[in-house]
Amino acid sequence: MKKDTVDLICSVGELASLFESDAGLKGFLQKVVSLVAYHMKAAVCSVYMFDEATGELVLTANQGLNPDCVGTLRLKLGEGITGRAVKELRAIREGRGSSSPFYKYIPGTGEERYEAFLAVPILNGNQRVGALVVQDPQPDYFDDNDVKALRAITSQLANTIESAKLLMSLHEPAALITPSAGFFAPSSTRIIHGIVACEGIAMGRALDITANDQGWLTDTASASSLTEDDFLRALRKTEEQLAELQRQLGERMSDVATLVFDAHVLILKDSGFSGEMQTRIRQGNPPDQAIRNVIQMYVDLFSNSSNSSLREKTHDVRDLGLRLLSNLLMRTSESADYHGRIIVADDLLPSDILKLSAQRAEGVVLIGGGVTAHISVLARSLHMPLVIVKEALLTKEEKAQGPFIILDADQGHVLINQTSDVIHQYQSLLNARADGDSAAALVAPSTTTRDGQRIRLMANINLLSELPSAQRFKAEGIGLYRSEFPFIVRKSIPTEEEQFRIYRKVLESMPDQEVLLRTLDVGGDKMLPFFPAVSEANPFLGLRALRFSLRNKDILIQQLRAMLRAGAARPLSIMFPLVMAVEDFEEAREVVQACIRALKDEQLPCNETPRLGVMIEVPSAVELAVELARASDFLCIGSNDLIQYTLAVDRTNPNIANLFIPHHPAVLRAIKRVAEAATSQGKPISLCGDMATDERIIPFLVGAGIHAFSMDPKHIPRIQQVIAALSFKDVCRLAGEIINLGSVKAVEARLSITP
Ligand code: PEP
Ligand code: MG
Repeated sequence: MKKDTVDLICSVGELASLFESDAGLKGFLQKVVSLVAYHMKAAVCSVYMFDEATGELVLTANQGLNPDCVGTLRLKLGEGITGRAVKELRAIREGRGSSSPFYKYIPGTGEERYEAFLAVPILNGNQRVGALVVQDPQPDYFDDNDVKALRAITSQLANTIESAKLLMSLHEPAALITPSAGFFAPSSTRIIHGIVACEGIAMGRALDITANDQGWLTDTASASSLTEDDFLRALRKTEEQLAELQRQLGERMSDVATLVFDAHVLILKDSGFSGEMQTRIRQGNPPDQAIRNVIQMYVDLFSNSSNSSLREKTHDVRDLGLRLLSNLLMRTSESADYHGRIIVADDLLPSDILKLSAQRAEGVVLIGGGVTAHISVLARSLHMPLVIVKEALLTKEEKAQGPFIILDADQGHVLINQTSDVIHQYQSLLNARADGDSAAALVAPSTTTRDGQRIRLMANINLLSELPSAQRFKAEGIGLYRSEFPFIVRKSIPTEEEQFRIYRKVLESMPDQEVLLRTLDVGGDKMLPFFPAVSEANPFLGLRALRFSLRNKDILIQQLRAMLRAGAARPLSIMFPLVMAVEDFEEAREVVQACIRALKDEQLPCNETPRLGVMIEVPSAVELAVELARASDFLCIGSNDLIQYTLAVDRTNPNIANLFIPHHPAVLRAIKRVAEAATSQGKPISLCGDMATDERIIPFLVGAGIHAFSMDPKHIPRIQQVIAALSFKDVCRLAGEIINLGSVKAVEARLSITP
């Protein structure tokens, strides 16, 4: 039987099935090697884990070699083909391993029978996690496709294997513990003001998942009639729920749905976790108490760890505890998900937002800290209202009770324990919005001013799951596909093949309309979680967006190849974020041309004439707009960044949010200049930042020559109405007047903006 590689192994469903047994962490890795050996029809498959402390690779799971070597065979970095692959962060394939200069004979393994050798490092970004190795007796057995397949698997599993590694390390000496954090103060019916990270209104009982003490965890009233069987039933139910959540996520969001519940499953199956609970129950502890105690132990261990990856898993442990207890005590209303709950958290990763959405949380209050641009963009894509408050929200007693919260994320208010009157008013507002949503679906297929000027309204897309709403709201194309989300939420670099599938879906969703794919925009506050954090004093002025891509060309090349392949046989537009000069755009264009040549050489179908665009986001690009328009095929204004860099106001800093003024005359003048530059060179221009949804500024923008906007699709009906009420003639005159106003106040007066 021939090897079946990428397709099967890339499926999240199949990887998720790795968890379907009680074999624990080692069992999980053993299943990985069996699955890979099976699909690749390879005689040997091994997982090595990298031990940072000793700098060695340890054989942790294997099929085909002498089983005694598991746990004892250790390779130094650079030693043998495997050690070399991990040291140099690259896959090494040898047709005849024994003739390789890197080959090292290891007596007792039985590997001398196996000639063909393929070792692929398992990396989280550039961090070494371990290696996945296949071997076979038939020389030259592995080919390029096998390399791609193993890369696909390692990229999907890197994060999970990293979690497995962390959990294994827990059972070793507890050097991870450092002193614990402080506590906070109380109150009752009240309104707390915060900063909006994602608009919307939500209501529900609070569920506190902050690092501090939690009511449900310290609840000492035990249900003494419960038995070990009840515990085992709760355990099974919890496993089923997690499998179901993972399955649903895979179905709903294939672009970002890697194994986001993997850490949950690994922890649950860890003998030190559920096994310890069972031991305590057998020693006579009531099951709920056993769960609470072990959860508390893990929460302490994780939350106090100096290892940030372990600290991040504290949420997962709490969530598991809640699930186990709810299933045990059959609080069915709480057991399956967070429906009807407002989550109170003290830190959030992009994958947390995804998990909370999969668990149907209504909204989130984040305490302290800012949110990265990506968290708020992701929250918007998932329709998850999110407000950031400065200080602790709930008292210790409230945490236990879960008070009723109204989260007014339109105004930035968190209303706690309100009267039924207030709740009723908000409920009516929510009902009216639901009606409004369906009426919005009646939006017209095209947009014009009342005197007939056509304006194109397109969709900003961050997740594939938003494509249906872009269609529902009759977006005339996709004006911004933010390609970084699959990178960020997956916590590893998606392979070319995975990216290709994602981009193809985006393009296929609008077969007859323009789709602008933007290359990776990371850096600033949008860090790739797996990439070695570069410490920069001014990250927004640092290695961001196109600069990052040009510095990491292998990532850029992989992405461009995937885009060019996805755009074969249809028009394709690719744009580059944060272009600062003609040179960086030209360098990017050369990489595109090199990718096209390589794809043609490989006889892979691709788009050979993509339209290449420049995002205007910094003042230097405004100054050079004419040259950039001449050098490129189109311009697109990223107003969020253009405001940030024109005004030197950090777009994520809540303390200076009042200084982030979209209608600042300097910003408006810059936009008009860019529009004129594009027109002078006969190149199209669009605008895709939040300004596109600001109805106070739209008249100016239309008058200034911006006739294509891209926005979260839900805003299209409103903006369509705003535009339909405009006279093009009048707004052109208005734009001409505004451009001569030299103060914020004067602009506000002319546009009737109340500060
Ligand atoms: C912008 O800067 O306006 C933009 C659309 O890009 P992002 O918000 O992703 O930085
Ligand atoms: Mg931007």
